[in-house]
This record gives sequence, structure tokens and C-alpha cells, in this order.
Amino acid sequence: MRRLLAVLVALAGALTLAGCTAEASGTAPITDGRPLRITTTTNFITDTVGRIGGDRLEVTGLMGPGVDPHLYRASAGDVQALREADIIFYGGLNLEGKMGDLLADLGRSRTVRAVTDGIPRDQLLRGPGTSEADPHVWFDVTLWQHASRAIAETLAAADPGHAADYRRNLDAYLAELTSLDAGIRERMAAVPAPRRVLVTSHDAFAYFGRRYAVEVAAIQGISTAAEATTADIERVAELIASRQVPAVFVETSVPRQTIDALLAATARRGHPAVVGGELFTDAAGAPGTPEGSYLGMVRANVDRIADALGAPAAAGG
Ligand SMILES: [Zn+2]
Repeated sequence: MRRLLAVLVALAGALTLAGCTAEASGTAPITDGRPLRITTTTNFITDTVGRIGGDRLEVTGLMGPGVDPHLYRASAGDVQALREADIIFYGGLNLEGKMGDLLADLGRSRTVRAVTDGIPRDQLLRGPGTSEADPHVWFDVTLWQHASRAIAETLAAADPGHAADYRRNLDAYLAELTSLDAGIRERMAAVPAPRRVLVTSHDAFAYFGRRYAVEVAAIQGISTAAEATTADIERVAELIASRQVPAVFVETSVPRQTIDALLAATARRGHPAVVGGELFTDAAGAPGTPEGSYLGMVRANVDRIADALGAPAAAGG
């Protein structure tokens, strides 16, 4: 028996080597009974991988709360964690803009999977004035279901002995996401239509806006790498004043000075908008808090947006 296992392990190793050149989509089995070692980028990807993998995985997340993935550069310790991983999950669509070369390089020797690969291409949006796809898919919960399936498929292929566990965890998670999606639709529909305008510093909510019928406006584009201009601030201030939008939002992963400049420009137009709260855009909250999970960050955002824009309080809180 032990001998057979050794042969199987050797065979799995050979398959892994053969699979390396086959690029990110296919994965040969790589486990020999030990937990899979996974390294992830943003903390909401870390959370989702953890929900699907359960205790079968050793997950190392690189980016904590408040970290901006657009600007993030891997440290020496991160590179080590990436090199030790069996599988790397990242957002893709240039979300981790400064890590592209590193991830491509690592993809030659292990499975490196962009979770957004699971999303049908015709459901992706382009950023304004660019041909680049918008990476902020997670605020359309149905798109995050596709990303979750991609994670489960990748884990099942790498660890077929536990594929049934991953699929069972996935099904439970998808059911929670379906219920979350329905809750968001209901909550946003309660905001009076003229005020259903979501203003943030960077353009992270286009998918949210499309899915939940909310108009979105942002000072910066889909990446925080480009600076906001005065013209951008004046354009958004004009919209806020003309629509009498009561509140704008700061983001946990973006400095708030552009929002302060926006409020000053809005006040000059005689419309005193306020900060409606802080939204989790490109990072979930601290581990162990309700906002530390993907579901929790989305729920917290929706509550803050609906409350600040004047929706009646949600039934049962
Ligand atoms: Zn972003």
C-alpha cells in the first residue's frame, strides 16, 4: 500500500511538471495528502478561497484591510510566499497592476489563476475612456459567483481526492451569495430613484451600478494610479449639486483628500453634501470583524449607501 502511494505521488509529481507548461487554466493533481498551499492577493479573495477550501488549505493572503491593490508592490516576504504556493489566486484584469510581471513569471512553474477568468467575457465592462476591462467585478454578487466557481474548479483539479468537499462548500457559498444579491436589490430599490447616485473617489462601482440600478460617478478612473484633476472634481460636483445628492463616500483603501476637495466644490455651488460613510472598495475589513469577509464587506457597503442616500431602514436591521 505504501509502495502504491509512493508511485502515485511520483506520478502526480510528473503530471504537475507536465501541467506547468499548460498554463493557468488546467491543473494536474498536486497533493500527496498534505493541505494545498495557497497564496492570494486581496483579503476578500483570501476569504472566498477559505470558504470554499475549508480546512483543506493553508492560505496566505498578501494584502490586508485598507490596502490598495492597484498600487501594491510585492515585498521580499510576499515573493517567498508566492514561490512556496501550490496555487496562487489573484483578481486579474490588471487589478494588481504592479504585480503583473511577477505573476506571469510564477505562472511558468505553478498554477496561477485569475479568479475573474471564470466570468463570461461579455459580462465585463470597460473603464470610461479606455479599452481596459474594469476589474471591480466583486460588487456584482452574481459575477462573484462565477469567480467562486473558478476557485472551486481549480482546487478540485489540484486535489481531486477532496473535490466533493470543495463542490459542497461552493454550493453552500453560492446559496449565500444568491440571498445576498436579492437583499441588495431590495435595499437599493428602496432608495428614491433621483437620489440613487453613488459618488466615490475611484471608479470601483460600475458593476454594482449595472446590477442594482444605481447611477455611479467617480473622480478617478478604474485605477487609483492616475491623479484626479480639478476638471474631474468640478464635473462630479456639478452632478451632485444638480441632482441634490445628499452624500458621497470615502473608501477604506484610498486617501480621502479628493473627497474633501469634492465637498468643497459642492459647497461652493450652494449644496452641502456630506460624507455618507466609509466604503470597503478594494479591500475587506479587519479579520474577525463582520466586514472582514466578502459577504460582510458587501453588506456593510450596501447598508451605508442605502442609509446615507435616504432609503427607509431595512426591516429587522
Ligand atoms: Zn479599485
